[in-house]
Amino acid sequence: MNDEQRPRFARRLLFRGAAAGAAVPVLSTASGAAAAPRRTRKVSGAEFRWLGTTGWRIDFDGRTVLSDPYLTRFETGLFTGSFNARTKLETNEELVTRHTGRPELVLVSHSHWDHISDVPFIVRSTDARVVGTETTYHLLRAFGIDPSRLIVVKGGEVLDFGGYVVEVVAGRHSRNKAQGYFAPGTLHTPPSGRPETISDLPEGDTLAFQVTVGDGPSAFLMGASDFSERDAEGLRPDVAMVAVPSSTSTHRYVPRLLAALGRPATVVPVHWDVFETPLKDGPRQDPTMDLDGFQAQVRAAAPGTRILLPDYLAPYRF
Ligand SMILES: [Zn+2]
Repeated sequence: MNDEQRPRFARRLLFRGAAAGAAVPVLSTASGAAAAPRRTRKVSGAEFRWLGTTGWRIDFDGRTVLSDPYLTRFETGLFTGSFNARTKLETNEELVTRHTGRPELVLVSHSHWDHISDVPFIVRSTDARVVGTETTYHLLRAFGIDPSRLIVVKGGEVLDFGGYVVEVVAGRHSRNKAQGYFAPGTLHTPPSGRPETISDLPEGDTLAFQVTVGDGPSAFLMGASDFSERDAEGLRPDVAMVAVPSSTSTHRYVPRLLAALGRPATVVPVHWDVFETPLKDGPRQDPTMDLDGFQAQVRAAAPGTRILLPDYLAPYRF
């Protein structure tokens, strides 16, 4: 199947249970005794915009926080059957600036190119600091970023930025059908030189983040489609941006994750899109992803949860 033949994803929003942006008082769920009690809350002033892949821009009170911002979306052949791990890194500076604004903080789930490769430019061109792993630290140092801009975490940290809180959650990387994944590995010392290609960017372990703006909402942001159940257990986000898995290698991924998170009021599927086509063309479903099957699993595991299939750059409030 070539690119032209790939099914185009219609630029519309699919909701279940509530309209976009509305407060979502979920009075009960169908899961009986296992269901967590729900709060009814006012709609927050925080606006969330999907940047594609697992990227988010969160705006509130004139402040901006980014998570996994990857806008350049250069071609690696990943979606055309000719993947080249030596593909050179590039950043479209005008495009990145236009969509990321003046962030004060950038959360990086892991160091693969589709999560980190626009981050060095963002940090150099703004006052933003970065929250990431030790590997992310060493890679960004190799890109010339000053260590004062880098906040190293492992998972378990609850960081107060005055007006919002970031809880760091140890996560896991997505697995392919052979239970493996591209470019595992961690760095405990700086790499030998400045990263030039996508294979110069190892995973470096994977984090998730729970971001709480003011009194809410709390948003659980994933960068890959696996998690540590014992680390996620007890988190109670209002909305979970859940990475759609590319395989069934992780046993009962959806029901275990949603149970650990207390069946959030809203689930937003992410990382189901082709991330090598221009953002302006809108989300195009990766044909290897079973997005319908994912949504069916969410409905089965959390009948009281609404599913919001996001569009690029549209503002959402939760
Ligand atoms: Zn990755």
